[in-house]
Amino acid sequence: MDNSCDEVAWRFGAVNPSLEAASAVSIRALVHGLYNCVDRSDPRPLAPLGHGDPSPFACFRAAAAAEEAVAAAATSGKYNSYPTAAGLTEACSAVASYLSRYLPYELSTGDIVLTSGCNHAIEVMMAVLATPGANVLLPRPGYPLYEARAALSGLEFRHYDLLPEKGWEVDIEGVEALADDNTVAIVIVNPNNPCGSVYSYEHLTKIAETARKLGIMVISDEIYEHCAFGSKPFVPMGVFGEIAPVLTLGGISKRWMVPGWRLGWIAMTDPKGVFRKTKIFEAIIIYRGISVDPATIVQGAIPQIIAKTDDTFFRNAMNMMREAAEICYQKLKGIECITCPHKPEGSMFVMVKLDMSYFEGIDDDINFCTKLAKEESVVICPGSGLGMKNWLRITFAVDPSLLEDGLERLKSFCLRHAHRKQKQVPL
Ligand SMILES: *Cc1c(COP(=O)(O)O)cnc(C)c1O
Repeated sequence: MDNSCDEVAWRFGAVNPSLEAASAVSIRALVHGLYNCVDRSDPRPLAPLGHGDPSPFACFRAAAAAEEAVAAAATSGKYNSYPTAAGLTEACSAVASYLSRYLPYELSTGDIVLTSGCNHAIEVMMAVLATPGANVLLPRPGYPLYEARAALSGLEFRHYDLLPEKGWEVDIEGVEALADDNTVAIVIVNPNNPCGSVYSYEHLTKIAETARKLGIMVISDEIYEHCAFGSKPFVPMGVFGEIAPVLTLGGISKRWMVPGWRLGWIAMTDPKGVFRKTKIFEAIIIYRGISVDPATIVQGAIPQIIAKTDDTFFRNAMNMMREAAEICYQKLKGIECITCPHKPEGSMFVMVKLDMSYFEGIDDDINFCTKLAKEESVVICPGSGLGMKNWLRITFAVDPSLLEDGLERLKSFCLRHAHRKQKQVPL
């Protein structure tokens, strides 16, 4: 064969530097790398405690009515076209009335923009807010797609802390100290990934008042809406939309347990119409017009997905989640080198701290998770990926018996790698 190809000086091949910056904070890449470490000859089942996707487990299967709604939409022949930029009117209208059930005011169809999952909503918002010099405030620990999408859009981000000793509440004083004249938004995640916390009415009021004082919007990531199984009920941030304008990001991925269906939304929970006045709304529509759309058949199915999924499904799912969280918390308590500062009461995750002085031959959380994947076929997300070195994020949204098994393996891994002193080996 001729080798003339080798003599061509190809001009492409340099990676967009923003993409490199974004990949540095990509949690998918991090967790994916751990899956590759798993020993394929291990006969034990892989325990996927690294990312929250309960949908493969029979006990978390989506409601039959929701699956039937998509099947019916697909065979109706009515949803084979391109949708409009904001989404099909009947779908937006169904989402508006669904969210209005939990708000003191009514949303209209025009307040909803559909996205290809909540991740796409994050992409849209980080792109729309990226004006020169602007910055946004993101939680630490957080959900790293915010950092990745901000980096890719050239939007500056600053981290405020969530406080483990205060049930992972927002460090309000820290937020005030961090903001300046160029700050445009604060992002909150409630119920919280990765901490498993749920914010109280009082705390949300404080966040809204702080946003008002600073003149910034609140972006409230509520992909885990109603995923609260402790003593605190879920309160949507939109309830405080009169105090400061709120953009609510959500979708069906987590509550309906169908992340593969890729349907999310941006809701202007802004009863005073600030987003329309400041042209943010217009910018969102413009961005949506040049980005991907959620599949029209899923949009077409949304009114039925919402109407036909009954309360029993959600109640059962929450009972399963509460039970799984309890198993997780109790098992973790029995592992000496792990501290869990706050019992999970929402979402599908818990953050725990590793006592690194306990181990011999393990230097940090990434090293810990890599060895754990190799030796025990247990995948857990290292806290470094979320801005918390030597912490771990564990999901309990897996089949309870596999969860128990995975956490037992975590425990024996810790014991096996303990420093001699810890093992109380007689000298
Ligand atoms: C899972 C998750 C998302 C992404 O939701 P999709 O609808 O699957 O794109 C967004 N935000 C947080 C905090 C999440 O945990």
